Amino acid sequence: MSNQTEIKKCNCSMCEKLCGMFVHVNGNKIEKIEPNKEHPLSQGYRCMRNRNAISWLNLSQQLMYPLKRVGERGEGKWQRISWDDAMGEVGQKLMKIRERYGAEALCEIDGTERGFEYWPRGRFMHLFGSPNWVNCVNICSGNQIALHKMITGDPLVFGSDFDNSNCTVLWGTNPPLSWQTWWIRMSKSKRERGMKLIAIDPRQTEATEKADLWLPLRPGTDGALAMGWLNIIINEGLYDKKFVEEWTIGFDKLKERVQEYPVEKVAQITGLKSEDIIKGARMYAEARPACCICYGVATDMIGRNATVVEHARVALRVITGSIDVLGGTLITRPGEKINGGAYITETQMCLVDKLSSEQRKKALGYDTSRITSFRSYELTEEPIAKMYGVPPMFIMPVVGHTSFLWPAILEGKPYPVRALICNATNTLAWAGPTKKIYDAFKSPNLELHIEYDFFMTPSGMLADYVFPGASWMERVLCSNYLDWGSMLLGGDQAIAPLGERRDAYDFWRALGRSVGQDEYWPWENAVEVNEYRMKPMGINFKQLVEMMVVLPSSIVPVFKQKKYEETGFPTRSGKVELYSSILEELGYDPLPYYEEPAESPVSTPEVAKEYPLILSTGGRRMPFYHSEWMHWGAGGREKQPDAVMEINTETAHKLGINDGDWAYIETRRGRIKQKAKLNPGILPNYVLAQASWWYPEKPAEEPSLGGVWDSNANVLILDDIDACDRLAGGFQARALLCKVYKA
Ligand code: SF4
Repeated sequence: MSNQTEIKKCNCSMCEKLCGMFVHVNGNKIEKIEPNKEHPLSQGYRCMRNRNAISWLNLSQQLMYPLKRVGERGEGKWQRISWDDAMGEVGQKLMKIRERYGAEALCEIDGTERGFEYWPRGRFMHLFGSPNWVNCVNICSGNQIALHKMITGDPLVFGSDFDNSNCTVLWGTNPPLSWQTWWIRMSKSKRERGMKLIAIDPRQTEATEKADLWLPLRPGTDGALAMGWLNIIINEGLYDKKFVEEWTIGFDKLKERVQEYPVEKVAQITGLKSEDIIKGARMYAEARPACCICYGVATDMIGRNATVVEHARVALRVITGSIDVLGGTLITRPGEKINGGAYITETQMCLVDKLSSEQRKKALGYDTSRITSFRSYELTEEPIAKMYGVPPMFIMPVVGHTSFLWPAILEGKPYPVRALICNATNTLAWAGPTKKIYDAFKSPNLELHIEYDFFMTPSGMLADYVFPGASWMERVLCSNYLDWGSMLLGGDQAIAPLGERRDAYDFWRALGRSVGQDEYWPWENAVEVNEYRMKPMGINFKQLVEMMVVLPSSIVPVFKQKKYEETGFPTRSGKVELYSSILEELGYDPLPYYEEPAESPVSTPEVAKEYPLILSTGGRRMPFYHSEWMHWGAGGREKQPDAVMEINTETAHKLGINDGDWAYIETRRGRIKQKAKLNPGILPNYVLAQASWWYPEKPAEEPSLGGVWDSNANVLILDDIDACDRLAGGFQARALLCKVYKA
């Protein structure tokens, strides 16, 4: 082993930004990590999570070898087992379950993705024959992507061109904490070019402070505001008439629909002043076509109306002609070629075609959450594949739904689910309601529960087998952000995996081979498979790592604008479908509209009498990222030891709560405790709680399960089917009703 320091070009994936890093390695030890200033995406940025990456990797709690449960679930009794023995046992069990209940009795769950190579999971599941690939994306942009594809043929979510925008709207998002590299670009545009910023948020944040206009609307009423803006822009003639006439269908019907949302009515629903609503609509539309609405996921979690809000926002982008132009929303172009060839996409690697149409129809939520199902995917497939020569992004928009999963385990409805594979996720913390998940995990109906993760989590404590995963520092990266564009990133492995940790490719390959999928996993390791994917472009993985990114046109607007003028849009009509023929075919309203959340001061006033405050969960606080960074020694807890809820200063004082006091937050589903952070700039009736909190220092065994019941806001969320997003099935984690009292 060499004693010299080597510098490796890697990508951090402690969140989804994939910032470029130089990792200094000596032997198999990381000496230091420096941000890579030349990386086109991150340009030298790194956050606190990355600054603590080495201490995180050295935590004693990191899993180093596979474990098999020997006591009861949750008792904390484990024995070490070899990979081969564990995979042998798991494979036998999976095949028995498939024989007895059908392949759909196996469900895979993802949480936050750490590596952005989804395809091995999909490949395994499709070859196994199960459509039940369940994850968080129907409350986190997968719903938006599915909808965007129906309307414009493009995923759109990452296309906002802040560098050239004249007006950017931050709709329920606070990029200084959630997407710092974007915030750097936005701040530059504001400073140097005078870009206007509109922030829509019930809470004052760093972003709202910098904004030219702040609209603190009642949580959950975003759809009404978007419809109001459409009303103003259309009625005042501020839209792009030429683009609308030549490139859209359904404008007249949209115009008719938005008449139902005059500004006075919208003001009454949202709690905003009419003049501010008008000012915002004009500021946005007068900057056209260089106006963009920044991607954010807050509204994906408001339940019933979640995806319809996005429908209205797409209409705002479209009628202002700000699609596929500089400063607006850029269109991605999958399937671009280098040296005459395009790399093999994640969707192609997933082998979607191996899943029969009969099995596709069995996906949990297939009939209910139709836009994030195979039904909508199949309806968008042809025009996109025809235009780009590659199948449309499959990975994020097609998901099973957690709200349907728990009854399938507990009651066998609509059919029994008997096995779970959880991939680098901590379902008890990220999803909800916690009690339902707990019951499902403890149920004797669940015959097999596998977790693959970096360290033991509350969910892992209830598993039968736990496999140790390799972090970003211990594996290579080859990612095109889930097929959302043409760009491909490559990053090196800094060190060999510690202990017996394995990367995700190794894990899924071993699992596949344990159930007889050998012929579909011919590549020995992740580098080999990456070489195979890149071969059509005539470059190898080493070259990709050197280049860092190829085909960056999805992030850098170097391509010709308004390409649609030559090709049309990849939709069934070749135009942007403001009136969506696919939504209509799926049995939904083809136009956007507003609907109150299932639980709100307006829809359930009787509940509001006992629970008078409006609760949202999941606001970002650095360095916490979903259910991660709860371990002492990794930098997060040192900065903030306890879960924090933000509450209006005056409201808190009326309740006898001071800054830093512990307080209970209670909904009809349960209660948790967090520390109060008083904020004079948050709406008086609004509370923002941190989600997914647990305490690794508390006993891992039951009843504590790492304190997952104590401060985890997902104890409080609402997942009755009637309360969920009608289009995509996402549960309601924002704009709920609660009460708060001193603990
Ligand atoms: S954790 Fe920080 S450094 Fe790492 S990818 Fe995310 S933003 Fe970048």
